[in-house]
Amino acid sequence: MTKSSVLGYPRIGSNREWKKALEAFWAGKIDETEFQSRLKDIRLDHLRKLREKGIDLIPVNDFSYYDHVLDTAAMFGIIPKRFDYDGGAVPLSVYYGIARGTKNAAASEMTKWFNTNYHYIVPELDGATPAITENKPLAAYREAKEHLGIEGKPVLLGPLTFLKLSKGYSESETDAWLERLLPLYVQILRELALEGVAWVQIDEPILVTRLSGEDLGRLKTIYGTFAAEVPALNVMLQTYFEAIENYDEIVALPVQGIGLDFVHGFAGNIRSIKSSGFPADKVLGAGIVDGRGIWKAPLREKLGLLETLQQFVSADRIVVQSSCSLLHVPVTVQNETKLLPELKNALAFADEKVDEIVLLTKAVSSGKDAVAGELEACDLAIGALMQSKERNRSDIQDAVAVIGKQDGRRNLPFAERHAAQQQKWQLPVLPTTTIGSFPQSVEVRKARQLWRKGEWSSEQYAGFIRDQIDTWINLQEDIGLDVLVHGEFERTDMVEFFGEKLGGFAFTQYGWVQSYGSRCVKPPIIFGDVAFEEPMTVEETKYAQSKTSRPVKGMLTGPITIMNWSFVREDISREQIAYQLAYALRQEVEALEKAGIGLIQVDEPAVREGLPLKEKDQAEYLAWAVKAFRLTTCTVQDTTQIHTHMCYCEFHDMIDSITEMDADVISIETSRSHGELIHSFEENTYGLGIGLGVYDIHSPRVPGVEEMTGMIDRALRVLDPKLFWINPDCGLKTRGMDETIASLRNMVEATKISRDKY
Ligand code: GLN
Ligand code: ZN
Repeated sequence: MTKSSVLGYPRIGSNREWKKALEAFWAGKIDETEFQSRLKDIRLDHLRKLREKGIDLIPVNDFSYYDHVLDTAAMFGIIPKRFDYDGGAVPLSVYYGIARGTKNAAASEMTKWFNTNYHYIVPELDGATPAITENKPLAAYREAKEHLGIEGKPVLLGPLTFLKLSKGYSESETDAWLERLLPLYVQILRELALEGVAWVQIDEPILVTRLSGEDLGRLKTIYGTFAAEVPALNVMLQTYFEAIENYDEIVALPVQGIGLDFVHGFAGNIRSIKSSGFPADKVLGAGIVDGRGIWKAPLREKLGLLETLQQFVSADRIVVQSSCSLLHVPVTVQNETKLLPELKNALAFADEKVDEIVLLTKAVSSGKDAVAGELEACDLAIGALMQSKERNRSDIQDAVAVIGKQDGRRNLPFAERHAAQQQKWQLPVLPTTTIGSFPQSVEVRKARQLWRKGEWSSEQYAGFIRDQIDTWINLQEDIGLDVLVHGEFERTDMVEFFGEKLGGFAFTQYGWVQSYGSRCVKPPIIFGDVAFEEPMTVEETKYAQSKTSRPVKGMLTGPITIMNWSFVREDISREQIAYQLAYALRQEVEALEKAGIGLIQVDEPAVREGLPLKEKDQAEYLAWAVKAFRLTTCTVQDTTQIHTHMCYCEFHDMIDSITEMDADVISIETSRSHGELIHSFEENTYGLGIGLGVYDIHSPRVPGVEEMTGMIDRALRVLDPKLFWINPDCGLKTRGMDETIASLRNMVEATKISRDKY
């Protein structure tokens, strides 16, 4: 019989109970006993729900107290030396110390989990002597069995992926590390087998990336060892987020099941299965329900796919499952009360996806007729959204069809624009500016809440914002900055703010997903054609400009960042969505220019987040992403200076794309790797305006003047002083008022000293 499964379930709870419990515990508001009991309730609730919905293979140990990669490191006693730990069970204080830092020890680095917005804690292998501290998958299995009688499927992060995601060792030490880890894995698995566990899911998402011959050899060693040492256990070797590379080698590994992603890796995995077939002695984990998207699965199409798969694998050897863990989607659509009905009906979050999986499984066993009603309802729901007026704005579609074919080049090449802009703006050498936002004090947040609750009228709130602008225009003049900003006090979040004002966006009430640790985000949904309805930033910017004779820089979020931080529709390509956003934002750029704003910054911090996992797909993405930026900014006059800002990522391999954006000035976060960054720009002889942040805004520390002149000197050894700008490395929204003023004063002082040298 065909079985159903999910690869993991969201931890956070439908009301973010998990987040609240973690934060209450950290704040000392609940003790450890209370905390443990709350988390256990959440965990058991999830298991109960999956069982009630009818999932056959219910995952256990997918739950975490913070992050599953950290759990794996902790399970093996891989604890950085700077934390107080001498063996045995890892106390919560140490576990959370690694995740969040302590008074005495910095947190471990956190980074993106493949191409998702989930972030994991990077294990540090240097100096570690691995030893099992606790068989966590076993504990999770026992708990499910004891309390609910559930035969769970323990989920483990596989050894190759774990190693590849860890740091603190060199390439040549990989095999030595594998030798240390393998016996520990074997012991964990052996205990599971002894307990009577039937199936384990071993996640190896690294298999969708390019593997070296050595890595393939390691895979054989790993899974060969498991097969030899723990023959009683069935291993589902699970991959996701893309098609696997090296299909033939991977499906030949001595495991009992192979899990493939037939959503995000559809083309590649289908091609492989069609050309090479699928081993008759293995189970296929068919990831056909999208674990990352938020849309209802087109059930008829999915049944068709299952029929295709049955040409290669018999139905009793197919497990119908999510394409990846459901960690990446919100918990349920059910509680949403404010969405358009045709949108709500077309959505499927984790719980609804579980229902889809169960339904598809049933259809394989009992035939289509058994689910005829559901198929019909699904067609109707998807059809209704397709018919909605939001998805059929011919005015937008026609305009975007035209501009999408254009190249988006400005009138003049940079050198000539630059001369015209210098002529007009008469900025000093090494102009000073900031990235946009100023501290969002308690009062700012309180005012916004009062207004949102209706206790303040819109006029009252607007008046408050104007006062903030006044304060900061005066401060910026007093500090001596050259290009001012209005401060972004009216914005909560750089994507939400624009999404709320553009057509085609929707906002859920409870659609939270875990970003890292207890931090959750609630991405907007781009479900219709993106429509510019009215100017979004002109009023505040114009007001700020009316208060000063120095130029005020307008401030927008760019198309790619808005897209990458939203859930997006799937009936048109991401490229088309990007161009729609570009078309809408271009109208804002033009409105700002018309209102007399002659420097306009279009922030694109999240360009890299959309980068496809497969190298072969990356150039194409970057090309249209860069083009979307150009389409947003290309229609302004030669004298209008376009700025952009990027942060949160590595830039060294992106300089060509950044050059292609053709912004007159780019400001870049440098706190992570100032030296390296300068080196990259040197090698690539970047020839446009650039501000490499001269101080790190991620810390409350006030940087000294000398420290900043040092940064400036170093940058100017390779970059042209005539093109160099002085700015902090990101927005100042999260900083305190006093430290911000002091830092900016020092920055201006450092600039004056440097100006005398050039
Ligand atoms: N203009 C934004 C700000 O200053 C940029 C934020 C960002 O880079 N993430 O807040
Ligand atoms: Zn930034």
